[in-house]
Amino acid sequence: MRNTISVDVEEYFHPSEVQKSVHGDQWTSLPSLVEPQTRRVLEIFDRHGVKGTFFILGWVAQRQPALIREIAARGHEIACHSFWHRLVYDLKPAEFREDTRLAVRAIEDACGVTPRAYRAPSYSITRRSLWALEILAECGFTHDSSIYPIKHDRYGIPGFGRHAQTLSTPSGLIVEVPVATVRLSGRIIAPVGGGAYLRLLPYRYTAAGIRRINYRDQQPACMYFHPWELDPGQPRMASGRLSRLRTYGGLRSMTGKLERLLSDFEFTTLSAVYGAAQSQLLEVLAVHT
Ligand SMILES: [Zn+2]
Repeated sequence: MRNTISVDVEEYFHPSEVQKSVHGDQWTSLPSLVEPQTRRVLEIFDRHGVKGTFFILGWVAQRQPALIREIAARGHEIACHSFWHRLVYDLKPAEFREDTRLAVRAIEDACGVTPRAYRAPSYSITRRSLWALEILAECGFTHDSSIYPIKHDRYGIPGFGRHAQTLSTPSGLIVEVPVATVRLSGRIIAPVGGGAYLRLLPYRYTAAGIRRINYRDQQPACMYFHPWELDPGQPRMASGRLSRLRTYGGLRSMTGKLERLLSDFEFTTLSAVYGAAQSQLLEVLAVHT
């Protein structure tokens, strides 16, 4: 079973937990670490012969075009992680459209690739921002991976389908690829998608989760992490106990866990696993109309 591995390419000062204590106008005066951190990811992926989907922040693409070209040149899928890393449910539809277009342009200018897959900052497509899917389809996106079907204080749509599905919007179809979860019992859904859950919990928790999805559900698991999660030496800018735990807990163990994950399971890009989903559905529609 081929699973998907994805990387949200952003600076250590972009995560929502850090933005509570770092204002946007400070960004340009902070030292940039995204290039060495992402190069470490590229080197690990190369060593394991893995291709992944890289959701690039437009702000990073604008400042580090050579890095984005390098990711594309190594055969990874180039995708979009917004421009300003703002939470979708805090934006008006017109602001979201503008941010998305700005990000697409920055990514195209950096590497010549038009991104077709999108991931919202902090999985911020929730019930109150589902309108974003129509705008993504309108902007030419064929895949989205912004919905976490769990209950969480900042994101999630509890009860949303746990596996990939093609959704119909007034602007066209879009394949939604939710981040990996397991059904523990009845209505209890646990996140196993990576990121903080991979950092903070024992490796066997994530591994058992992926096996359950692959064997019991017969589905691929969609995993993610950030380049800054492999760097224990980064400046610690988040404040507050919970924010610091969510952002910096388990940084030292993350590289080892990622390497184990890449050895124990098969991973590839989102489009390699789900590229055919939409055309299959279109074929079905064509047959019936
Ligand atoms: Zn992000």
